[in-house]
Amino acid sequence: MSTASATLLVVAVLTSAALVKQAGRLLRSIWRFRGTRLVVCPQTNAPAAVRVDAWSAAWAEMMRDQSIALADCSRWPARRFCRQTCLGHVKTDPDGSRVSAFVARWYGDKRCVYCGRSIPDAGLGWHHAALVDDDGATIEWSSVPPEELPDLLPTHAPACWDCHVAETFRRTHQQLTDRPSSRPS
Ligand code: SF4
Ligand SMILES: [Zn+2]
Repeated sequence: MSTASATLLVVAVLTSAALVKQAGRLLRSIWRFRGTRLVVCPQTNAPAAVRVDAWSAAWAEMMRDQSIALADCSRWPARRFCRQTCLGHVKTDPDGSRVSAFVARWYGDKRCVYCGRSIPDAGLGWHHAALVDDDGATIEWSSVPPEELPDLLPTHAPACWDCHVAETFRRTHQQLTDRPSSRPS
């Protein structure tokens, strides 16, 4: 191999390595910006669910630009042309403002009202923890519109996913059981 070819090969390898590294950084940024977040809308002082434009935010970060923008908000399209002033909240607490983090904080050290077990990782995974209303009806927290969670959680009790499945089956096949439908206190 000639010296020129060897030099080209080294340049190609170094360029490829740099590109792979940059691509890795971009993907990590996209991963960090993904997901729905809960904010308090400055226009209404009410909860709203927003999603950051993850690709643009990650690209801006690569360019050493701190600007981020939203891709969606539960108050859109009615407020589509707002100034997105809620972004301050997202910027100051990017991880804590995630819906999953909010939910995990609420379940915290609470225990399932049915089996009494703790509910770890309530905001993560495929099998989400559940909420129980006064009538004993259960619903996975992920089935609730995120912006409604702050008002809904205090009126419900926590239940683990296993008990949610068991209680749902029992309620829908109530004629097979004797147990009345109600929430344990
Ligand atoms: S995007 Fe606009 S309407 Fe939606 S929460 Fe933020 S400030 Fe409020
Ligand atoms: Zn349980």
